[in-house]
Amino acid sequence: MSRETVEKLSLELSGKSPEEIIRRAVEVFGVSSTALASSFGAEDQVITDILHHEKLQVPVFTLDTGRLPQETYDVLDATRKRYGLQIEVLFPETSAVEAMVTSHGANLFYESVELRKECCRIRKVQPLTHKLSTLKAWICGLRREQSVTRTAIAPVEWDAAFGLYKINPLAEVSEAWVWDYIKTRSVPFNALHDSGYPSIGCAPCSRAVKPGEDIRAGRWWWEIAEHRECGLHREHK
Ligand code: SF4
Repeated sequence: MSRETVEKLSLELSGKSPEEIIRRAVEVFGVSSTALASSFGAEDQVITDILHHEKLQVPVFTLDTGRLPQETYDVLDATRKRYGLQIEVLFPETSAVEAMVTSHGANLFYESVELRKECCRIRKVQPLTHKLSTLKAWICGLRREQSVTRTAIAPVEWDAAFGLYKINPLAEVSEAWVWDYIKTRSVPFNALHDSGYPSIGCAPCSRAVKPGEDIRAGRWWWEIAEHRECGLHREHK
């Protein structure tokens, strides 16, 4: 698919509902060549629910970094049960984690941006890169209003970092829309959202935010905003 075709598809899907974007993208890229990367945040849960009620057998996978909060494992299991879904769980390479922690300690991410990115690279980016190399497109729960690094997200785009297409069905929706969907359809969600966590990643790198604070202010809060991506979504400025 050429860059022009992707831009045309994205334009066609601009302003469409998340359901329409997902249906059309799956039609274009194929069910077995597309997958949802879920971290069980509110947005990912909405997409999982849409896939279920649209009866689209798109596989769902997640990255278990080894540092996730218990609440995330709880919602993983709740999601498996609710949708009868087999979620593929990807772990980092044991030897790489062992070498990193042996050299730099268990809490290296607080020491420098470089070490934090190295931890994200080993625990998240490497397993994700391996998985994405088997797909034509991946579905993500990114929204434009989530942070200064996500304002240019399109419904469908070429992900140059990983060499496949990225589908962002929730690019244009608001946080209120997401929560209205979750409450209306009783979608299982991470209990940490009720404790002031709008964005949830690894336990040592996520915290609650104050009312009115930026949605991603609780992720790697000790770094400046422009650095606060983990390498999974690198193309948005
Ligand atoms: S979010 Fe924190 S603990 Fe998780 S992989 Fe990145 S640096 Fe490591």
